[in-house]
Amino acid sequence: MSWMRMPVAGPAARAIAKVGVLVLVLGMLFCARAWVGLSAEAQASDAALVAKARAIHDRVIALDTHDDINPENFTREKNYTQRLDTQVNLPKMKEGGLDASFFIVYVGQGELTAEAYDKAYKAAIEKFDAIHRLTKELAPDQIELALTAADVRRIAATGKKVALIGIENAYPIGTDIRRVKEFHDRGGRYMSLAHNGHSQLADSNTGERDGAWLHNGLSDLGKQAIAEMNRLGIMVDLSHPSKAANLQAIALSKAPVIASHSAVRALCNHSRNMDDEQLLALKKNGGVIQTVAFNSYVKAPPPDSPERAAAIAALRKEFGLPEPGTGRPGGGAGRGALAQLSPEKRTEYLARQADIDKKFPPPPRATVKDFVDHIDYAVKLIGLDHVGISSDFDGGGGVAGWNDASETFNVTVELVRRGYTEEQIGKLWSGNLLRVMEQVEKVAKNLPSSTPTGGVDP
Ligand SMILES: [Zn+2]
Repeated sequence: MSWMRMPVAGPAARAIAKVGVLVLVLGMLFCARAWVGLSAEAQASDAALVAKARAIHDRVIALDTHDDINPENFTREKNYTQRLDTQVNLPKMKEGGLDASFFIVYVGQGELTAEAYDKAYKAAIEKFDAIHRLTKELAPDQIELALTAADVRRIAATGKKVALIGIENAYPIGTDIRRVKEFHDRGGRYMSLAHNGHSQLADSNTGERDGAWLHNGLSDLGKQAIAEMNRLGIMVDLSHPSKAANLQAIALSKAPVIASHSAVRALCNHSRNMDDEQLLALKKNGGVIQTVAFNSYVKAPPPDSPERAAAIAALRKEFGLPEPGTGRPGGGAGRGALAQLSPEKRTEYLARQADIDKKFPPPPRATVKDFVDHIDYAVKLIGLDHVGISSDFDGGGGVAGWNDASETFNVTVELVRRGYTEEQIGKLWSGNLLRVMEQVEKVAKNLPSSTPTGGVDP
């Protein structure tokens, strides 16, 4: 029935209706004005905050202490001058205002045998060479290798990007302590004594999961390696070894140490994160925790639904990959597992996993806010001078909002939103790390420069 055929109401009713409509319209106008007004105000203040953050971001040196690499992406044909689908490369660094990156010579933990050490050593050299190829041959006009904290500041001031080298897992040195010097000569400026799995040098955090330790901290060779790193000027990295190994390393080291990519255990209970006792020891030592934006170290995700877990398990089985390990909730395959696949198989695997993600969505990811909560916590517990920033990009890192180098600015925006000053943000982004690096250089200068002669039995 049409409204025109509705029974016509009397004059009084029509007057009331008119007033009602008028009140309604006025009310709507008022609300709309209030809404637009508020929103415009909020928008203006947000724009001012973003502009302030932009100016700060442009002035400070934004340095990320942990970005993995694959030598496949360091060839003439395919390299970091291109906008590859890697989380870090030169176009993405420029877009996000990421000024400096520690590229990682990572070698996964293998057996403690002479043959395995040899294989690991070759894999490490391939990565050292790849990084040197980038800075010397592929893009010397865009990025330069820094060997000292002063280098970082000098190169950044020219507008070029800064490359540094971190060694994730000293396993490739085998039992030849002289290789620590070789790795220093090749440009390595921090090194962890273990990754996931005990090495010949130190127990790994994974001992907690497995309930088994090899050295109850550091081995004698590990202790010798720390002395050698102090002597040469390599920062000791605590990010993967066990808590016992870390506390021993802090006690032994004559120079401040770092955790190159770890988060806070009080906020996310994972053995890769640092508990309060380790953080306080780090503060006492003058070191710095480079808080990591790694999803499952920032926020423990809820378990997958049974349907999703089953689909992921079936997919992994089909591709001959091991069961998902801890620390990889959401079913993502670790870089170790994916590296076993050929490039074609890897692409196919990732496409199939994307299909599963669509059908059975993974739990929501941690955000930049969740990540900065870790920074806040560490700052409150051990002071701003002992906290820094890292991503673990291309090694499993990234959170919603900082998922590749092009989104680096978002971290600064969140820091400004929380009231950090430019000076504080400069320290978080690089000042603290560079201070540690300088102290490590100074300690090395003051230690005797004799090179140890022989290898050591494990
Ligand atoms: Zn790592």
